[in-house]
Amino acid sequence: MPNLVFATNNQNKIAEIKAQLGDQYVFLSLKDIGCHEDIPETQPTLAGNAEQKARYVKEKYGYDCFSEDTGLEVDALGGAPGVITARYAGPERSAAANNNKILTELKGKTDRSARFRTFLCLILDGEEHLFEGRCEGQISEAISAGTDGFGYDPIFIPADGDGRTFAEMTGPEKRSMSHRARAMTKLQDFLRKK
Ligand code: IMP
Repeated sequence: MPNLVFATNNQNKIAEIKAQLGDQYVFLSLKDIGCHEDIPETQPTLAGNAEQKARYVKEKYGYDCFSEDTGLEVDALGGAPGVITARYAGPERSAAANNNKILTELKGKTDRSARFRTFLCLILDGEEHLFEGRCEGQISEAISAGTDGFGYDPIFIPADGDGRTFAEMTGPEKRSMSHRARAMTKLQDFLRKK
């Protein structure tokens, strides 16, 4: 099986990708290729950040790779947190603080519509390809129960589900409708046609 670097050290993301694409490639993480530095993500858009990360790995380490950048957009907050989703409540990137900040800002608001968007940037055989996955949904009124998931999962109720948040779903349930899985399916279709 060929190697493909997934430009992340986020174990949750690696687990999700392996579960979906694990039979086609051996996925290497940044740690596996000896990349221990924080890769710059300084672009004003999610797509730009995904491209920046993939180009960095290709240029510095020489590997074909793909990277991803995900953001949450809340309509009543003008599309925030968007490109600063990871550090919305501060540089420590605390999921609990981020979730509480969104819930506080949405207090009393009736429009709770939101979406996750994932951009994947693949660099393969000297070409660059971008794939997008979206998941529409609502922000819950409170932090939900459920220990599955990560990040904003305890406050995001996908429109294609049954009213539970992502955190209350099993891994396969989340993958059947998530932004990342949808972007990954596009990547997977592309790789299968290679
Ligand atoms: P990044 O793409 O790693 O920069 O992640 C951006 C932010 O979105 C981080 O706070 C993640 O925890 C969060 N995030 C990314 N994917 C998901 C997801 O599938 N569910 C919930 N939060 C996510």
